[in-house]
Amino acid sequence: MLSFDVASIPTDLFIGGQWRAGRGGDKLDVFDPSTGQVIAQIANASLDDAMDAVAAAHAAGKGWATTAPRKRSEILRRCFDLMIERRDMLAELISLENGKSLVDAQGEVGYAAEFFRWFSEEAVRLNGEISTAPGGANKILVEHQPIGVAVLVTPWNFPAAMATRKIAPALAAGCTCVLKPATETPLTAFALAEIYREAGVPDGVVNVITTSRSGPTVSAMLNDPRVRKLSFTGSTEVGRVLLREAANTVVSCSMELGGNAPFIVFDDADLDAAIEGAMVAKMRNGGEACTAANRFYVQRGIAKAFSDKLAERMGSMTVGIAYDKSVQCGPLINVKAVNRISGLVEDAKARGATVLAGGKSLDRSGYFYAPTVLADVSPDSEIAAEEIFGPIAAITTFDDEEAVIDLANGTEYGLISYVYTRDLARGLRVSERMDSGMVGLNRGLVSDPAAPFGGTKQSGLGREGAHHGILEFCETKYIAVSW
Ligand code: NAD
Repeated sequence: MLSFDVASIPTDLFIGGQWRAGRGGDKLDVFDPSTGQVIAQIANASLDDAMDAVAAAHAAGKGWATTAPRKRSEILRRCFDLMIERRDMLAELISLENGKSLVDAQGEVGYAAEFFRWFSEEAVRLNGEISTAPGGANKILVEHQPIGVAVLVTPWNFPAAMATRKIAPALAAGCTCVLKPATETPLTAFALAEIYREAGVPDGVVNVITTSRSGPTVSAMLNDPRVRKLSFTGSTEVGRVLLREAANTVVSCSMELGGNAPFIVFDDADLDAAIEGAMVAKMRNGGEACTAANRFYVQRGIAKAFSDKLAERMGSMTVGIAYDKSVQCGPLINVKAVNRISGLVEDAKARGATVLAGGKSLDRSGYFYAPTVLADVSPDSEIAAEEIFGPIAAITTFDDEEAVIDLANGTEYGLISYVYTRDLARGLRVSERMDSGMVGLNRGLVSDPAAPFGGTKQSGLGREGAHHGILEFCETKYIAVSW
């Protein structure tokens, strides 16, 4: 079913522009979640390997920071071109190791590549400011300088995009980096490293290490004074640990953490548009997205029509081997995820929820759970409090606007909210009151490299993409000048 040989993908560490085995020589298995089979063995980096990667990034730092922005920009643009050229192969690879459908994987490659195009354009527009001090004695000159060596830690759910959303702005700003991808999905990161090299990224500017010892490895890097930046995407739980680690050396942190998105449908919403939006917001990547709609709040007058239609759509999805072209919903990442989701569904049922579609794991090799729609979900169910990260739509009915705003905001997370209504004044009013970094108003898809992505509350710190993304990798330098 695959058009390429998995054995052609590098499996060693990428340090200083060289592929090399880990110093300890031990290996980690990589699995295909569609079958549960091992597809590759990758190097397991030791702390010494991680320090080698930091040293390589540090050694390359000065040369890269002083490379002309236009030259950096052109290299980034070549990364974009090469990713698009290899789109089909990269999509198959993502689908193989992550388990998302080929269509979703194609979408991810396009999205991931766009960060290189966007930041190739931003690299030459890193403008500063000049003003006269209010007292008139001097000028205030402000410029943005590369912050230095950046440690980038990424999750398995978007193996390409979460890496390029960090690497592209880091390189555009003039920083060098060490990427530590998730061990579940390292092959995409390695395939992309080959692309960076071919595109002309100098040795040591991007280094990639994989390890089963994430905690001690990232901690050692953060405690090295050469490292000045941590950009992390992953769970809120690990984010909290890393913020504490970063405190030792006061490393600048950008954090893209978990979500628990409300999806609010008012009575006056365009039902078909709300269903289309729900399918994207819920089922992109089989629900394994930080932006996934987690809690559906549907107003009473439209609740039955919405629930029945969503159940029909989700219940008729083709589930199977992710990289089979006809499949719309692949497996979950591992058996632990299947068991966790089963527990959430059972808890919701015990608190009165009704199953309109799915509601069970699938008895076949690989890690499958049927696309599921639950109605009458009690707001105090675990499924409403936790990030589901799977193909389950949990629907709760509501009556009035004020009450649904309170319900929607009643979470420690604040990444994204979705609002569907034909009344634009209400849509904007409710959007403004959502305590989240992003809102999809009559839209189920918001991610865009040109827009600032990020969350409020415990969903994160900082923004990725847009002009904001490059500033996360810069220090602001103020020079008081008299002339
Ligand atoms: P995770 O937090 O378990 O792991 C993320 C990364 O951190 C992986 O590379 C992992 O190996 C590493 N890691 C784990 N423990 C660590 C430790 N103690 N020290 C240092 N590194 C450690 O998350 P995951 O399961 O890979 O990804 C799913 C989570 O990511 C979800 O919560 C999802 O919402 C979140 N996510 C957020 C965004 C966003 O932009 N806000 C995007 C994608 C995913």
